[in-house]
Amino acid sequence: MKDRMSELVALLNRYAYEYYTSDAPSVSDSDYDQLYRELVQLEATYPQDILPDSPTHRVGGKVLEGFEKYQHQYPLYSLQDAFSRQELEDFDRRVRKDFPHLSYLCELKIDGLSISLTYENGVLVAGATRGDGSVGENITENLKRVKDIPLTLAETSNLTVRGECYMPRSSFEAVNRYRQEQGEAEFANPRNAAAGTLRQLDTGVVAQRNLATFLYQVASPSSEESQEGVLEHLTSLGFQVNDRYILAQSMDQVWDFIQEIEALRPQLPYDIDGIVIKVNDLAIQEELGFTVKAPKWAIAYKFPAEEKEAQLLSVDWTVGRTGVVTPTANLTPVQLAGTRVSRATLHNVDYIAEKDIRMQDTVIVYKAGDIIPAVLRVVESKRVSQEKLSIPKTCPSCQEELIHFEDEVALRCINPLCPAQIKEGLTHFASRDAMNITGLGPAVVEKLFAQNLVKDVAGIYRLTPDDLLQLEGFKEKSASKLYQAIQASKENSAERLLFGLGIRHVGSKASRILLEKFHDIEKLAQAKPEEIAAIDSLGLVIAESLATYFSQEGSKILLAELVEAGVNLAYLGEKVAEDALLSGKTLVLTGKLENLTRAQAKEKLQSLGANVASSVSKKTDIVIAGADAGSKLSKAQELGLEIRDEAWLESL
Ligand code: AMP
Ligand code: ZN
Repeated sequence: MKDRMSELVALLNRYAYEYYTSDAPSVSDSDYDQLYRELVQLEATYPQDILPDSPTHRVGGKVLEGFEKYQHQYPLYSLQDAFSRQELEDFDRRVRKDFPHLSYLCELKIDGLSISLTYENGVLVAGATRGDGSVGENITENLKRVKDIPLTLAETSNLTVRGECYMPRSSFEAVNRYRQEQGEAEFANPRNAAAGTLRQLDTGVVAQRNLATFLYQVASPSSEESQEGVLEHLTSLGFQVNDRYILAQSMDQVWDFIQEIEALRPQLPYDIDGIVIKVNDLAIQEELGFTVKAPKWAIAYKFPAEEKEAQLLSVDWTVGRTGVVTPTANLTPVQLAGTRVSRATLHNVDYIAEKDIRMQDTVIVYKAGDIIPAVLRVVESKRVSQEKLSIPKTCPSCQEELIHFEDEVALRCINPLCPAQIKEGLTHFASRDAMNITGLGPAVVEKLFAQNLVKDVAGIYRLTPDDLLQLEGFKEKSASKLYQAIQASKENSAERLLFGLGIRHVGSKASRILLEKFHDIEKLAQAKPEEIAAIDSLGLVIAESLATYFSQEGSKILLAELVEAGVNLAYLGEKVAEDALLSGKTLVLTGKLENLTRAQAKEKLQSLGANVASSVSKKTDIVIAGADAGSKLSKAQELGLEIRDEAWLESL
């Protein structure tokens, strides 16, 4: 049995490696699942034989008591800063004094947390935070749940590597959206979110949050001769390495790169706060040595912060799908990270109180990428009025009294008939990850509601083409198109419907997991909470929320009406995947896209069934090249691969 277990561990780790680093995973998701389940069963029977690098360590919750101190064998260093070209020139002069012929490797400075990973015989044995550089915290259990960190390496060596653990902007948005809906405090930025996640004592939470890493250093002795060689070695070991680095021969080239990346910064799928410039030759690095706290062979150029001052003009309060009432600030417009900003979230009432935000205050606004900007704090020295913000007592939509539950940071409207909540619920039902009814956005929902044509989600399916024709701005063609989209959504696989119902705590991922197990919504409605709570990645909160939902008379009636209307309640998972346009194809994105961020493009491709890989090889099917595509494009041309552009992607 021990043999089979180690065989399974090796296989599963290899597949995970292929999935994250090379082009095409050699097994399907369902084959992976099957092997995985076999391993889980064996481990349950023979717990004494569980291997330290078993992929099962990545999932499931364990509640830790706290974190132990971790003594770093090789200290972590910090970097000298530069804020101007002049400071970079000074740095260049210092290092060139003794080494006139050197080149620099320029890397993005990822805005996350430094981590250190130690492998013995190629197996991850410890992961730690930086701490003060010599003593950090042992967060091994949490780092094992960061899915792109290899648990085993392609070589059985002993080594310690360093890098940055960060939260991609898309995950950050999802986490905050969820927290807002739940009335919980939101994270101010992806860095805080990553820090908060890595310090979680419940490892299950870490597994759900989708953290990611970029590695850039081998701290233990290594035989590489250059920083570029180190990055290549890290890549071949199976680590994620940020591929936007360049080798520069002069400060002019360094400066060009800085300009280029700064322009790109708002579109990157993760936050960066600068560019790190390192002497490429490791022998020269060694000669240059260190000051008390930082290496003399590197410098970090810091971008100006993505923060600005603006004045608070007024506050809008809006009611979300779950009844949470959210304040948004209207501001004097400012230019921030490439866009004009005049609105920013104030998160919730507790936040306003805690930051003591008053009328007409000058506030600091923060923006990262395409995330909604947020008010970070007040500039108290510029206060002009003592007047406090007025906090609504009643719902701006239904005028019922608002509740501030003790354990929540938000205000809530608890009226089930609140029009704002119903409209948000309808929009959510039709949204892309739910029933995906194209054309049924907030504006159309508003019109349907105003005309009394729809009161709940079942009502959507009772609409006739004639009803739709009554809507302002609708013609024969647009009405028939929307009608078709509604009809088509009846055939959706049921995880979309389950998510669309908007049951508390039941997100799109949980919906899929639930239906994979129970196959249809009616069976799920009959399931015992213990059965649901026993599913590894779900748990009691979801189980209880489902039980409450399905026991309500209103839910029973709603489901009956949906069935009556011909809406599918069964899980069709696998089949949908096969029908997807790009299913089984491996695509690579390169260069700068105009209208989509990388993360959005990737998401779109995945929703069409494609595997999205980071490097080009013979196994690649299609390369999508944006502006200034570099080595990946030339490689694709060399290999004679199909090459497409952004317009093609959008046309899919
Ligand atoms: P600072 O915290 O400003 O002293 O900057 C040093 C930190 O930058 C390191 O501790 C790393 O966490 C982080 N960092 C991010 N990206 C890189 C990179 N490519 N190379 C070196 N350090 C990096
Ligand atoms: Zn209300």
